[in-house]
Amino acid sequence: MSDRSLAGWAGEPDPFGGEDYDVLVVGAGFAGINALYNFRQQGLRTLLVEAGSGVGGTWFWNRYPGARVDVESLEYSYGFSDELQQEWEWSEKYSSQPEVLRYLEWVTDRLDLRADMRFHRRVTSLHLDETLMRWTATVSSTDSENPSRSARLSCRYVVLATGFLSSPNFPVIPGLESFTGDLVHTGAWPREGVQLAGRAIGVIGTAASGVQVIQETCALVKRLTVFQRSANWCLPLRNQTMAPEYQAFVKANYPEIRRLAQDSRGPGMVLMDGRIVPSESRRAMDLAPEERIADFEWRWNAGGVHMGRGFVDLVVDEDANDELRRFLEAKIREIVDDPEVAELLIPDHPPLTRRPPGESGYYRAFNRANVELVDIRSDPIAAVTPTGVRLRSGRHFDVEVLVCATGFDSGTGAALRIDIRGREGISLREYWADGARTHLGMMISRFPNMFLLNGPQSPGPHFSPPVLADFQSRHVGALIAAVDKAGAAAVEPHEDAQAEWVDHLNAVYARTLIPKTDSWWMGANIPGKPRQALAYGGGFPEYRRRCQAALEELSEYELI
Ligand code: NAP
Repeated sequence: MSDRSLAGWAGEPDPFGGEDYDVLVVGAGFAGINALYNFRQQGLRTLLVEAGSGVGGTWFWNRYPGARVDVESLEYSYGFSDELQQEWEWSEKYSSQPEVLRYLEWVTDRLDLRADMRFHRRVTSLHLDETLMRWTATVSSTDSENPSRSARLSCRYVVLATGFLSSPNFPVIPGLESFTGDLVHTGAWPREGVQLAGRAIGVIGTAASGVQVIQETCALVKRLTVFQRSANWCLPLRNQTMAPEYQAFVKANYPEIRRLAQDSRGPGMVLMDGRIVPSESRRAMDLAPEERIADFEWRWNAGGVHMGRGFVDLVVDEDANDELRRFLEAKIREIVDDPEVAELLIPDHPPLTRRPPGESGYYRAFNRANVELVDIRSDPIAAVTPTGVRLRSGRHFDVEVLVCATGFDSGTGAALRIDIRGREGISLREYWADGARTHLGMMISRFPNMFLLNGPQSPGPHFSPPVLADFQSRHVGALIAAVDKAGAAAVEPHEDAQAEWVDHLNAVYARTLIPKTDSWWMGANIPGKPRQALAYGGGFPEYRRRCQAALEELSEYELI
């Protein structure tokens, strides 16, 4: 059944009495929730649609055992409202997925946002009507009880808060569909859960998601077979129950913590070892070897994945990077009992050229008798069979559950799943055929009045996504206000301003070791995807400066 109701399906309340919307926000994760709140505060009639049955985004879909944050929760949380950050109590330093989901549900209710949200709706197309300068969205039901419903919505502005890592990448392996056990992806984990205890489990993928599943389940499953194509440099997370005095200390110092985080060139986190530690501007190679090692050691013991924020040269200078590599190699050899397994677990890419997974017993898992590490680089998977996994050599591993921890079509995947057509009917898939092109990771030339939050070519992967979402949605709000003030209908970035941003982004990455490694930052985790910088590594202060300059002069935009 198709209906014409703008807000939703027939019979559902329409928050705006059937009127068209100013803004359609797609996605109810950290960014979408924040954007809906900001736009509503600005007086814009905003509707949010979400494919899931509830809020949470990443934290809704990634329900796999062991899923938790790798940035301290006191920082990986909203800073735009002091009331919110003072009121919410975190129970662990690094919260688990259920707690982050509860937090986002609480924020949604606390800000009374649900009335303007519609769940179980996937935006399948977005077409620009250039005469009216309005977008028409086709929305389809994801509700298995009402699968054939669809609706059309009209809005002036579209904000894609669809997430950087939200389009799951399933491996292409012959026979995958013939598997008769449970086949699951970490990024689309079944809500009803999967029986793992006492069963034979196979995990494909050994980055952040795989590491978390493996360390969490190794003690409860009968047998765990880990299929590793590339090893990753894992850093100890050292999660702990939240100490009340630490939480009180952070809350008392939030203004300074949030300010320092936004002023840092690094990942936008300043808490470490129970105190405020701003990002450093020192070079590792300027220190004496014993001082350098002492610093690495302190960071290793303090926990968290941001070893890189101690020195500015670790991801730039090969000698400095090699120093860190030697330090980390020794740690792996120290923890893993079997020397052959330890060597397999030592990566061959430079540390910090991929996001390091947070480790809480991952390396120790390989000391267990029920855990086997299988090197599928030297002996690749040939096929998935009805009962397990067969390698090219003919070796077969029986598994009852096959977990694909194989990542996401990062950055561009979520937008490209939607049939988006801008000026003169140009499709985004066509426009990005040779690689993504954005202006400040937030807009795309030829696609006026469409915005991306935490999108490709934004600082999202190297900065704090909640902080970035607030900043970007305010930037979008300011652009909308500028359009109204000018009596215009739309805003679009100039193509040369966009090209300048892409050149800058590439130049920043080219100064680092990052492009040398295949990673989702480089779009190099998906076969056939253009290899390019998908994340901005120039730091938030420079990004903010460029955004503010673009707003002040508006010379990088065309008001139509
Ligand atoms: P990922 O970093 O893209 O890793 C995917 C893994 O799957 C890699 O080990 C990859 O091997 C393997 N893989 C992919 N396709 C394969 C194939 N066809 N055959 C065999 N192996 C294959 O994905 P992710 O682990 O989901 O993490 C993505 C990002 O999400 C993280 O970097 C992080 O930013 C975020 N995340 C964060 C947390 C957290 O702690 N808060 C947890 C999970 C995820 P290759 O390396 O050889 O390609």
